[in-house]
Amino acid sequence: MPWFSRSKDNISPDSQKKDLPDGLWEKCPGCGEIIHKKQLESNLWTCVKCEHHFRIGSEEYIQILLDKNSFKEMHKKMRSPDPLKFEDTKKYKERLTSTVKSLGLYEAVKVGTGKIEGRNIAFGCMDFQFIGGSMGSVVGEKIARVIDKAHKSKIPLVIVSESGGARMMEGAYSLMQLAKTSSRLTRLADAGIPYISVITDPTTGGTTASYAMLGDINIAEPNALIGFAGPRVIRQTIGKDLPEGFQKSEFLLEKGFIDVICSRKNLKETINNLLELMT
Ligand SMILES: [Zn+2]
Repeated sequence: MPWFSRSKDNISPDSQKKDLPDGLWEKCPGCGEIIHKKQLESNLWTCVKCEHHFRIGSEEYIQILLDKNSFKEMHKKMRSPDPLKFEDTKKYKERLTSTVKSLGLYEAVKVGTGKIEGRNIAFGCMDFQFIGGSMGSVVGEKIARVIDKAHKSKIPLVIVSESGGARMMEGAYSLMQLAKTSSRLTRLADAGIPYISVITDPTTGGTTASYAMLGDINIAEPNALIGFAGPRVIRQTIGKDLPEGFQKSEFLLEKGFIDVICSRKNLKETINNLLELMT
């Protein structure tokens, strides 16, 4: 005989769930607030209560940062040839095909041109949901080409990064993108054309080690994870505990890696003001 008994009809958690139809509500990871997706969207995917910045993709950033319908995508369907014939739990080629199919994105970055308050810019934005926003040969090539576009058309460059780092499925080919994108940015700097890097949660590994940190101005969203290696690896390597808030925007601002922390709601205005000053 059980100590407690109650009929299944009285169990309540499910009845609460029924009030939250699937896909309409999001729970804030910062404060637990349940927010309707429409409200979240109108608040630019930041929590109405605690300002937590939800992770969003390139489509959303294009909507937030660029003037309406001004984005013209370039090199949209560029695909990786899988130079290493890589296979882990799945063949890399198959992984790419299924990711493209399920997300409707062709790669982990979109590049092109657009306008901010009427000003022409070259623009790139990454997508974390595409294989962890990893930077393989196509991401590197697209970034290099959007830098070239800024250089050739003499227009400022804005890149929004969100990335887990270099794409392991392309090994050294991924690592070569660090040198390629960095050298292109040097050429852009030599021509005196401004580059603003927007760093969002998370930006790590090879992306941090190249174009994400090379902006004339590096802007971070609040509380974003930004680093090179993960905290566990660093802790094991140096054999010391890491300071609180390590690898978060606020810590990096204090240490001088980041120039500005900017809420998503002020991001477009801030970029526009900076470009006004720099051009
Ligand atoms: Zn919240």
